[in-house]
Amino acid sequence: MSLNRREFLKRSTATCAALTAMRMGGGGLFRPASAAASGLPGSLGAAEVTSVCEMCFWRCPIVGKVKDGKLVKIEGNPKSPVNGTRVCARGNSGVQLVYDPDRVKYPMKRKGARGEGKWVRITWDEALDEIAHNIQKVKKQYGPHALAYFDHGASAENMRGIFKALGTENYTGEPAFFQCVGPAALAYLNTVGYITTGTRQYNDMGHAKAILLIGSHLGENIHVSHIREYIQGLSNGAKLVVVDPRFSAAANKADIYLPIRPGTDTALLLAWINHVISHNLYDKDFVANHCQGFDDLKAATKNYSMDWAARVCDLKVPDMVAAIELLAKASPNVNIHPGRHSTWYGKGDVGRHQSQAILTALFGAVGVPGGIYFPTKVKKGKAECAEAEAEEIQPPKVSLKEGKYPFSAPFGTVTADTIKAIITGKPYPVKLLGVNGVNIIQTIPNPYETMKAINNLDFIFCEDIMAGETAAWSDIVLPGAVYLERYDAVYSYDGLTPYLTVRQPVVPALYEAKSPYWIAKNLAKRLNIKGYTCDKEEDFIEEELKAAGLSLAKLHAEGGIVTYPGKPYRDRNELEIGTDSGKVNLAVEEFASKGLDAVPKFIPAPAPPKGYTRLIYGRSPVHTFSRTMNNEWLHHEEPENRLWLNDEVAKHLGIKDDEVVTLENQDGKRSLPIKVLVTPGIRPDAVYMTHGFGSRSPLLSRAYKKGAADGFMMTNTIEDPYMGATSKRTNFVRIVKDKKVLAIPELRPVPREIPYFKSKRA
Ligand code: SF4
Repeated sequence: MSLNRREFLKRSTATCAALTAMRMGGGGLFRPASAAASGLPGSLGAAEVTSVCEMCFWRCPIVGKVKDGKLVKIEGNPKSPVNGTRVCARGNSGVQLVYDPDRVKYPMKRKGARGEGKWVRITWDEALDEIAHNIQKVKKQYGPHALAYFDHGASAENMRGIFKALGTENYTGEPAFFQCVGPAALAYLNTVGYITTGTRQYNDMGHAKAILLIGSHLGENIHVSHIREYIQGLSNGAKLVVVDPRFSAAANKADIYLPIRPGTDTALLLAWINHVISHNLYDKDFVANHCQGFDDLKAATKNYSMDWAARVCDLKVPDMVAAIELLAKASPNVNIHPGRHSTWYGKGDVGRHQSQAILTALFGAVGVPGGIYFPTKVKKGKAECAEAEAEEIQPPKVSLKEGKYPFSAPFGTVTADTIKAIITGKPYPVKLLGVNGVNIIQTIPNPYETMKAINNLDFIFCEDIMAGETAAWSDIVLPGAVYLERYDAVYSYDGLTPYLTVRQPVVPALYEAKSPYWIAKNLAKRLNIKGYTCDKEEDFIEEELKAAGLSLAKLHAEGGIVTYPGKPYRDRNELEIGTDSGKVNLAVEEFASKGLDAVPKFIPAPAPPKGYTRLIYGRSPVHTFSRTMNNEWLHHEEPENRLWLNDEVAKHLGIKDDEVVTLENQDGKRSLPIKVLVTPGIRPDAVYMTHGFGSRSPLLSRAYKKGAADGFMMTNTIEDPYMGATSKRTNFVRIVKDKKVLAIPELRPVPREIPYFKSKRA
């Protein structure tokens, strides 16, 4: 597609904003909306307040039950077309987030060394004065670009407005994009014209006749409506193909499971594309009328044979053929899941997701039941009174973005580049960092570099609810209100059944926690930044609702949600593909114009060096990254992670199930102790752990040093050449038991196409 950068930025903004952060306001007011002590069984005789969950980014509509001023239970909003009365374990446990004794309760100032976690309590005035003083000092001494801001979640945009108004290009190096969804978003945007992996995923598993999951471990990775659609599809008889080096929860349900060699997924996809074309399994009408680049695709993939892929991927040809033919038979009602977390190997991550999008198009699975579908936008207004007044940002003489990544994100600068600039002072010094709602020491790979960067700063402050590692390293910590204690921007859902709803306080904010809007407004005043003119936080909600012909009162009367008719599917003659050409790009000329591949190529990820195995990671159904680890109920369900170790490898090493080991990576970094799960359910050339454990913040009494953190084993990262995302599966470990380092045997031969990783220590 001939999308230029400006167009990419423009189109991405809406989805990326939805991905990461809805502009939000705060809530100090307790005004239960649809309070109705029904007295029905299960109601607990409590007042019911509708709101929106944020125990993860999925934002399920909920009802909070409040008795004697205390939140006692959370359920799904029965009017919600996506989750009904259901919430997941984390959604339920929002109660414990509010009442977690380790919450950041007051503004705090660091007393000991960075990371030591020693604090003194200060007043809000003192905290905001000190932040404003340091911002002004750094800006005056080094210029506006010396200020940087990392954020995530619905609490981010108020403060982001301040950094934009201060004139820095570093207004967000956002881990949710650069360490997660970025490559997948870019691939789909440039192939089918829109991002299928926003806060919502526009893939219609509920109506699919077959589903392909590549590394998506649904069931362990849980988002309520997404899982419901997946289960609906399977219950209706959809066939399931799962590609994963690990026998995941999804693999357990698969009709065909392909235990692929890590790092070779694109080889499999390209061989499948070749097979689909050469065996005439593609949708000729769709390709002829709605795609461009078919001849280029055919020529570029013709040498990727099944025999070749079988050797590279360590799979069997009959299984690979059976899988693709099963998917082809279901077309066009076939769901090639676009994936989400896509920062695996750096080079090749965009190409992998591009291949998934191409396969989707070859099957004609665009805008049809079971395929990827089109979002239906719900109209809502813009609340200008909740924004900072900002001039256009004047770029520095040499921008961090300069000539590096032709398809980088629409916002701010690349996470890895900002960290490097803080450490090196090049191309300009970055001396102050604001962090909001994200634990960058756990989230950005190579925490050692992140900590080094923090030590190079003149000043760092963070706004958060729980004091993870990043808070422990901050100079000032601000207590943010929990999502159940504040307003946020009106939330419009653009999935199969669109709706509009509002996050609002279920209980008043505890301690001295303040809403993000309050914090931004009061900091802006000190920095002479204009804007943030809403008198009270309901004002911006009312402003946004007005454009939809609604008000808070009307929304409350509707039970907190208004639904609209959706138009997810399109007849072929009314298909509007959102690319410049109006066609699906089977070859992306815009990529080629920047010296990148128009059609994906297989770029092998180096194999583990001798004696090591690859570290892979994933999600827990009861935790959201590191941020729920201290939650009493969730900690009870899963207090620590375990290291999945292949049973044959374990036998060679003399390691038994439940033994405690540590890991040492290729650069000699050691993990915290972790228990082993000996299982045939993982390949011998990989070990696996769930992400988010192994907290090193002494301020989290339950989570501290429970399990091991995958991020602390990541010191080798590769940046994606398209948009600068950072790889997270390019690190290798060996096992340390009883102080003895054990070399991992190579039980699966590595083919000649795959080079070994060159380790200085192997
Ligand atoms: S999936 Fe669970 S944690 Fe995420 S928003 Fe929904 S209920 Fe909350």
